[in-house]
Amino acid sequence: MSRRDDLRRPEELVAAGLIDPTRLTEIARVAERFALAITAPVLDLIDPDDPNDPIARQFVPSEEELAAATDEVADPIGDGPYTVMPGLTHRYPDRVLLKPTHLCRVYCRFCFRRETVGHGETTLSEAEIDAAIAHVAARPEIFEVILTGGDPLVLSDRRLAAILDRLEAVPHVEVVRFHSRVPVVDPERITPETARSMRRRFATWMVIHVDHPRELTPGAAAAIGRLVDAGVPVLAQTTLLAGVNDDAAVLEALFRRLVALRVKPYYLHHLDRAEGTARFRTPVAAGQALMHALRGRLTGIAQPTYVLDIPGGAGKVPIGPTWIVPEPADPAADPAVAAPEGAPRRWCVEDPAGRHHDYED
Ligand SMILES: *Cc1c(COP(=O)(O)O)cnc(C)c1O
Ligand code: SF4
Repeated sequence: MSRRDDLRRPEELVAAGLIDPTRLTEIARVAERFALAITAPVLDLIDPDDPNDPIARQFVPSEEELAAATDEVADPIGDGPYTVMPGLTHRYPDRVLLKPTHLCRVYCRFCFRRETVGHGETTLSEAEIDAAIAHVAARPEIFEVILTGGDPLVLSDRRLAAILDRLEAVPHVEVVRFHSRVPVVDPERITPETARSMRRRFATWMVIHVDHPRELTPGAAAAIGRLVDAGVPVLAQTTLLAGVNDDAAVLEALFRRLVALRVKPYYLHHLDRAEGTARFRTPVAAGQALMHALRGRLTGIAQPTYVLDIPGGAGKVPIGPTWIVPEPADPAADPAVAAPEGAPRRWCVEDPAGRHHDYED
């Protein structure tokens, strides 16, 4: 089977009709700063005649990327201080990020790690992987290892198996989680053997990154099916992006399709403030309104948690919407209902239709 090449050079964007030739010089400057790659299956999804194509918007560079807004930073989620050695980020006690490569199959224009992915030192050496796994082995509180990057599925099956074999030798590692865009953007990479080799002593989970329902092609659906059939539970993470998916009908279609493919929507990410990503930004209130609109109308198993990675490294937290708030203080409230000093016990709760109800503890 012949696989068509990725699009990696600005000239190829012109040839594919994705940018006007007059923009070539500027776009080449963007591509020098932030890596560029579009796989053939993704290219097939783009309608070059649609200036608002939601797939093109995610992957085709724009001149706007060179104008960093003042609130944008190189390390928006604060990985730096928690990176204890090359490729290993340890922020939470029970789980670590292991980044065996900084390469991806596609480069998203809104990537939160765009300063590190796709350039510089790209792949960990054997010795660096050994050192990272020694860090894990020395800490029994580490329950889960998250393989991310970059995209770990850029590595060959042989190199992945070597990492999984070494993790299998650490008895307290009970879960290994992959974060990857590959099942969507290069589904043929997920062969039945790849999927089978992930079935291990520990539970292997796959979290796919998918932002628009059109990305879930028959090929992607088949790759997901191979993973689930091999015993690898699949979750999805989606980044909320202006002009791509900041629309209740688009999100609803995406989350429904995922559940129909046996994938649980896990997180809807509020966009991190990486440099040159202003055109994708949405207000928090808009994200909350979208999540509010989906509650009740969309099956509960298709509802992700809307999260913010707090700038600076404080961690990820759910950011709403809020369905229940304390009632204004009621001095006549029944004193027989015990509540800790100062804690509210009378609440106002909203239902999916927007009606308000009293609720008392
Ligand atoms: C996002 C992240 C995780 C995973 O967080 P979950 O909420 O468990 O998905 C782990 N470590 C770091 C450093 C992270 O940024
Ligand atoms: S696949 Fe993930 S890490 Fe790679 S460019 Fe996209 S957002 Fe960044």
